[in-house]
Amino acid sequence: MTINLGTANEFIARHIGPRSEDEQAMLATLGFDSLEAMTDAVIPASIKGTSVLGTDDGHSEADALAALKAIAGKNQLFKSYIGQGYYNTHTPAPILRNLLENPAWYTAYTPYQPEISQGRLEALLNFQTLISDLTGLPIANASLLDEATAAAEAMTFCKRLSKNKASNRFFASMHCHPQTLDVLRTRAEPLGIEVLVGDEQALDDASPFFGALLQYPASTGGIFDYREVVQRFHHANALVAVAADLLALTLLTPPGEFEADVAIGSAQRFGVPLGFGGPHAAYFATRDAFKRDMPGRLVGVSIDRFGKTALRLAMQTREQHIRREKATSNICTAQVLLANIASMFAVYHGPEGLKRIAQRTHSLTAILAQGLRAMAVPVVSDTAFDTLTLATGDATHGLHEKARAQGINLRQVDAGHVGVSLDETTTPADVQALWQLFGAGQTQPDFQALAASSGTLLPEALLRRSTFLEHPVFNRYHSETELMRYLRKLADKDLALDRSMIPLGSCTMKLNAASEMIPVTWAEFGNLHPFAPAQQSQGYLQLTSELEAMLCAATGYDAVSLQPNAGSQGEYAGLLAIRAYHRSRNEGHRDICLIPSSAHGTNPATANMAGMQVVVTACDARGNVDVADLRAKAIEHRERLAALMITYPSTHGVFEEAIGEICAIVHDNGGQVYIDGANMNAMVGLCAPGKFGGDVSHLNLHKTFCIPHGGGGPGVGPIGVKSHLAPFLPGHAALGTAEGAVCAAPFGSASILPITWMYIRMMGGAGLKRASQMAILNANYIARRLEEHYPVLYTGSNGLVAHECILDLRPLKDSSGITVDDVAKRLIDYGFHAPTMSFPVAGTLMIEPTESESREELDRFCEAMVQIREEIRAVEDGTLDKDDNPLKNAPHTAAELVGEWAHGYSREQAVYPLPGLVQSKYWPPVSRVDNVFGDRNLVCACPSIESYQDV
Ligand SMILES: *Cc1c(COP(=O)(O)O)cnc(C)c1O
Repeated sequence: MTINLGTANEFIARHIGPRSEDEQAMLATLGFDSLEAMTDAVIPASIKGTSVLGTDDGHSEADALAALKAIAGKNQLFKSYIGQGYYNTHTPAPILRNLLENPAWYTAYTPYQPEISQGRLEALLNFQTLISDLTGLPIANASLLDEATAAAEAMTFCKRLSKNKASNRFFASMHCHPQTLDVLRTRAEPLGIEVLVGDEQALDDASPFFGALLQYPASTGGIFDYREVVQRFHHANALVAVAADLLALTLLTPPGEFEADVAIGSAQRFGVPLGFGGPHAAYFATRDAFKRDMPGRLVGVSIDRFGKTALRLAMQTREQHIRREKATSNICTAQVLLANIASMFAVYHGPEGLKRIAQRTHSLTAILAQGLRAMAVPVVSDTAFDTLTLATGDATHGLHEKARAQGINLRQVDAGHVGVSLDETTTPADVQALWQLFGAGQTQPDFQALAASSGTLLPEALLRRSTFLEHPVFNRYHSETELMRYLRKLADKDLALDRSMIPLGSCTMKLNAASEMIPVTWAEFGNLHPFAPAQQSQGYLQLTSELEAMLCAATGYDAVSLQPNAGSQGEYAGLLAIRAYHRSRNEGHRDICLIPSSAHGTNPATANMAGMQVVVTACDARGNVDVADLRAKAIEHRERLAALMITYPSTHGVFEEAIGEICAIVHDNGGQVYIDGANMNAMVGLCAPGKFGGDVSHLNLHKTFCIPHGGGGPGVGPIGVKSHLAPFLPGHAALGTAEGAVCAAPFGSASILPITWMYIRMMGGAGLKRASQMAILNANYIARRLEEHYPVLYTGSNGLVAHECILDLRPLKDSSGITVDDVAKRLIDYGFHAPTMSFPVAGTLMIEPTESESREELDRFCEAMVQIREEIRAVEDGTLDKDDNPLKNAPHTAAELVGEWAHGYSREQAVYPLPGLVQSKYWPPVSRVDNVFGDRNLVCACPSIESYQDV
C-alpha cells in the first residue's frame, strides 16, 4: 500500500452533497452515464467552452486556512482614533459565539415565511424598537446597507414626500461624513438632483430645497442645536433628515424631539466589528405618517390563525417584487445579521448599560480635551460627545507620522487639523498616551485630578431627558446565562440550513462551510478601520486583489469591483458604469433599459435609480425571452438604447439558447448588456458571461460564493466588467479615484470577503466546475422525480433544466382549491422551508437544491412533495374536506394538538404525515400568520411581553 504524504483536499467532497455512487445513480435516472455527458446536453452549443477558469484541484481546509492566516498577518492593527462613522467596539463574547458564529443565525434566509422565522423576526423587532426609542421617531425599518446609502435613501425619500415639488435641490451639511457626501453625489446625479454642501447656520434661504441632511454630532465632533435650522427648512416645505450616532443619542436629545422627519445612521458601534468597513447595519427611522414610503423591510406584529401574537414582514407591497420601477428602493438583501448583533448588544447592556458606555466614552473625551487645553493644544469645538478636532497647524503632518510610529492612527481632517474619536474600548492609559503624543516635552496633565473636575462637553440644552428601552426585553437578559438562553430560544423557533435544506430558487442556499467562516472573526480582519493608512491594510489589499482575479477567472470579465454590498448595489454600480461609458462617447442621451418581464424586481427598481427608462420585453410560451419582441423594441429605441438587463440562466431556470443572438441585437443597436449573475451557480467553470456577450454582471457572493444569507443579509454584490467599462467602476475618495462611490467603505463589506476567498481556494477550478455540474444534476434529479406529480413549467429543448426548476401548481388550484401558499405552509409540517413562491411566475414554486444537498436530503424533500400531492388528491376526490384539510390548516403547532381536535383528519396526519418525522420534528411556534390583519393594525415595535405568553 502506498501512502500519500501530502495533505489530501477533502473539501470538494465535503462541500458537495451526493456521494459518487449517488451521482451515478442520479445520472442514470436522467439517462446519462457521466456528468460531462449531462453537462454537454444542458449547455447550449453557442456558449459551450467559453469558461476561462483553470482546472486546479484546490487546497485542503488546513492549507487554505494557513495561507489566509499569512495574508491576514499583513494587516497591522494600530490603535485607531479615526472615527468618521466607524468605532472600535467590544462584541460581547456570548453574542460572538451564540449569534455571529452560530449557523442557526447566520445560515437563515430572509424571513418571508414568518411561521419558521419568529426568532429572527423578534430580534429584528427589538432592533426596530431600539432605533425608534433612541431616535425618538416612531417607525424604524429592519436595517439598510450602510450609513451613506441610508443617507441617499433619505434624500430620495424627502424628494418623494416634500411639498416643495418644483425643487431638485438637496442641502447636505458640510458637517456630514465625507463618505456620506460622496455617495449622496453619486446617487443624486442620475436623478437630476443637485446636492449643495454648505453650512446650515449660514444659510438664510431654505426655499430652494426639497430636503436637507444634517449630522449629529458633526463629523468633526461638535454638537449643534438644530431646532431652529429644522424650523427654517420646514417653513420652506423641505424635509429634514438627521444622520445621528446611536451611542450619542443615549445622552442627547433625539432627532424626533427636535422635529426631524428622518433619522439615519449606523449601528456598527453596537458590537459589530469594524471589519475594514463592513458589513454593518444602517438604520432608517421616520414619522408615522411617512411609513408607507419608507425604504427597506419592516417587521410588524400581527396574529396567527388562532389570534396569537405572531410577527411577519409588514407592508411588502412597497418593495421591488411588487412595485418594480416604482418601488421605494431597490434594496433586497439588507444587513439582518448585523442588525441582530446590534439589537442583542442593546438587549445585553440595557438602557443603563448603554448610558454607562456612552458616559464613560464621553467623560474620557472631556478629560482628554481638558488635558490638551492645559498643554495649549487648541481644541476646535467647545462641544463634543466622543470626537475632538485639534488645530495642529504646521505640526499636523509630523504628528501623524509620530502617532503611527507609536501604533496610533488619528483622523486626517485636513492639512492643519487632526481628529481624535474615542469609543467603548478607550482606557485612561489611552488618554495618557494621547497626551504624550500631543504634548511631548510638556508637563503631563494629572489624569486623576482632571477626572475629578473635567465636567461635560455636552450642551446643557441638548441633554436627553426622555427615557428609552423600557420594554422588558431590554431589561431582563443582562446575565450571560439569561442572554445565552434567550439567543437559543429564538434560534430554536427558526428553520435555517443547520436543520434542513432550503430549496429557494434564485437564492442558492448552499453550504457556508465552517472553514470559510472562521477567518471572518479573526482580529486581523475584524479590527481594521476602513480609513486606516494603506500600509496597514496590506493583507486586505492582497485578499481583495487575489479575489478580484479569482472572480475575473470565474466570469470571463476583465476587471472586478468588490465595493457594492449587495446584488442590488451591484446592479446600480453596473448601470452607472454603462451610463458613464455612453457619456464618455458623447452618447449620454442613451437612457432606455430593456428588461424582460420575467426579471427580478431589483432590476427595474435599479434602472429607475440610474435615471433610465424601463421598457419591458415579452417572454414566449417556453419562458424564454421573446427574441422577436426584443429585436423590435431594440430597433424601435435604437437611438436611445442604453442597456438590456437579463438574467442568465433565465429566472425560469433554463439555459436560453438564443443568448448569443440576444446580446448581439442589443450591441447592434448601440446598447450594453447587463447580465444579472444571481444564477451564476449554474455557470462557474462551464461558461462565462464575460465571454458570451455580457459587458457587465453582478455576482451575489451570498448566493454562488458561499457567504451566508444571515437571515436577510449581509451580502456582497461585486461587479465584473469588460475592459471598456473598467474606467467607470465605482471609486472612493479614500482611494483617490475619479468615479464616485456607491457605498460608504472603499471595499464595501470587506470582512466577509475571506469567505469567498476560502471557497474558491479550497475548491480550485476543478471543484468549482464540479459544483456547477452537481447543482445542475441535483436540480434535474428533483425535476425528474417530481414531474409526474407536478408539471415542470419550463425546460430547455433537451428536456433539462439548469440549476433550478419551476413546478406549476396552478392546475391544482383549479382542481382542489389548494394554493402555492397552502403547499408552502404544509411543507413546514414536513420540516422544510418553502421553495420560492410565485416568482417569476405566479402560482408556481421554484426549487433550487444547490450542489450541497445530499441525495438523502433531496429524497426526503421529494417524498414530502409527493406525499403533499397525495393530500391534494384526497381533497380533489373529496376524501378530505376542501376547507378543513391539513393543507389549508398548515402549519400545525404543538399547542393545537392538546386542545380539542375537531378536524376531519387525525392529529397524526397533521404533524407526522411521514414516519421519519416522529424521530425528528420541527415544531413551528405559531400557526399561519394573518398578513392582512398586521397591515391594517400596524405595530412595528415590541408589544408588551405578556402578548407573547402562550394562552
Ligand atoms: C437575489 C437576486 C437579486 C438581488 O440581490 P440582492 O443581493 O438580494 O440585492 C437580483 N437578481 C436576481 C435574479 C436575484 O435572484
